[in-house]
Amino acid sequence: MALTGKPCGLEQLRFSNRFTRALPADPITDNYCRQVSGALYSRVSPTPVKAPHVLAITDEVAQLIGLHAGECDEARLAEVLSGNQQLADMDPHASVYGGHQFGHWAGQLGDGRAINLGEVLGLDDTAWTLQLKGAGVTPYSRHADGRAVLRSSVREFLCSEAMHHLGVPTTRALSLVLTGETVVRDMFYDGNPRAEAGAVVCRVAPSFVRFGHFELPAARGDLALLEKLLEFVISTDRPDLATRVTDSSPGERRSAYLDWFAGVCQATQHMVLQWMRVGFVHGVMNTDNMSVLGLTIDYGPYGWIDDYNPDWTPNTTDAEQRRYRFGQQAAVARWNLYQLANALYPVVQDADALQEILNGLPAAYKDARQIMLATKLGLPDDAAADPAFSELADKLERLLCCQPIDMTLFYRRLIDFACQVDSASTGDAMSNGSLTDAITASIYPGAGNAESGIAADNLPLFQHWETSYRQFLQTYPLTPESRRAKMAAVNPAFVLRNYLVQQAIDGLEQGDRSEFDALSRLLKRPYEDLAKADERFAARRPEWATNRAGCSMLSCSS
Ligand code: AMP
Ligand code: MG
Repeated sequence: MALTGKPCGLEQLRFSNRFTRALPADPITDNYCRQVSGALYSRVSPTPVKAPHVLAITDEVAQLIGLHAGECDEARLAEVLSGNQQLADMDPHASVYGGHQFGHWAGQLGDGRAINLGEVLGLDDTAWTLQLKGAGVTPYSRHADGRAVLRSSVREFLCSEAMHHLGVPTTRALSLVLTGETVVRDMFYDGNPRAEAGAVVCRVAPSFVRFGHFELPAARGDLALLEKLLEFVISTDRPDLATRVTDSSPGERRSAYLDWFAGVCQATQHMVLQWMRVGFVHGVMNTDNMSVLGLTIDYGPYGWIDDYNPDWTPNTTDAEQRRYRFGQQAAVARWNLYQLANALYPVVQDADALQEILNGLPAAYKDARQIMLATKLGLPDDAAADPAFSELADKLERLLCCQPIDMTLFYRRLIDFACQVDSASTGDAMSNGSLTDAITASIYPGAGNAESGIAADNLPLFQHWETSYRQFLQTYPLTPESRRAKMAAVNPAFVLRNYLVQQAIDGLEQGDRSEFDALSRLLKRPYEDLAKADERFAARRPEWATNRAGCSMLSCSS
């Protein structure tokens, strides 16, 4: 479709479309639901929407792809970013993948409501895939409508950017566009569907390839396709291994596949470690929601830990089994990596080598986790290797679980305590406050504990931990300033608590974007102390939000 209006830089976007150029396409181009084999994607155009309206653009992501969003005609941007109009070099397609959902093989899934527009080259020639989520049905939509509601789109738009600024690997969000159409959803699966505003998010990532992309051809015994995908992914994502995958020696190729798999394992464990650091729970770690680049992908019923609880899951669909609970995420990631290894086995043909990589994961994760915890406590990496550190870490876990304590606030308040210890040791300060004084504001009032504060029974635990922590701080001395800088860089002051996003959604649904704009602003600087006027965004979750839908738990309906 021809574009009209003033030039806005959209025409200058340079599409490379490596995925569709290199990999086999489904020969059928009609848009109806089907099983697709022998191919990795189907060409399909977004279904036009009635009245697209840009709600938000992320300038930083626009810059990544070389787009000057501020100079663009808004109506034109809305047409392109809703999928109503296509740029000349776009090659829209939905990819096909399978996956294990909640531990069970689910067969073919595919992009049921995501349409890739193609890969665009950034100013530095990095390729970025643009993907519209909620742009209408594809051959993989099964019985669903290919659309997304505003609430889930806002959640994805804000959270992917929040994660990026927290330093967690993630897909990015370029735009949030209202479709001007409604979408019917039964949010609580209780027979009460309602019409909600529809929206489309344009997601951006170097690639949206998932574990499930490998699992499907493997399950079908299509080894030629599996190997083609593997070669493609390695050549695009791992230039350091690229020459080895085209080597004439099968042994050399297989060792490159193994190196690639080891890299996926490492990236995946790193991603989960970062989730644990900031208190993020993905909620649906099915293998179709696992990126081979170790990016957080597919923001559905995710959540943020308010009161620390390793057993918490935000996903109502998983409330019984709690497979994807906070404390289980590393183990689930490993289970998912086993599924990827199984999928690769037919082309790698070396079970022992795959097993060896997998066997090394728990210890590597544990070491990295201890270092991450040490960093959160303001201690250097060496401290994590100190024989007493495991006890400090275990006791910290017990302390955080003994009564409802806000994870984010606890670590942020701990900075003041650690700095006081440093000042006292250097004789710079007269007062040397206690841990309990420092972290009281992070404690939730609860049963038997109407006032926020440490319950009497738990005091010995805190005092004991305080003594051990003081010793560590003194063993690894720093100036208060450098301790503060180190701790503040890994313990966010601001995270995108579920209730905050819900308030932003409620506002937008009433035509008020002030909360949405405030969150968009704050999520860019999560490690800075908040200005007085913004302090409410860094407070404990209020009582009213404890059990409200969207504020604590979420359904998959989106
Ligand atoms: P998710 O749980 O969001 O990762 O989705 C699992 C599968 O269901 C994927 O294949 C999605 O593309 C598909 N899916 C989810 N929602 C929709 C929808 N509204 N329309 C079509 N497909 C969908
Ligand atoms: Mg998904």
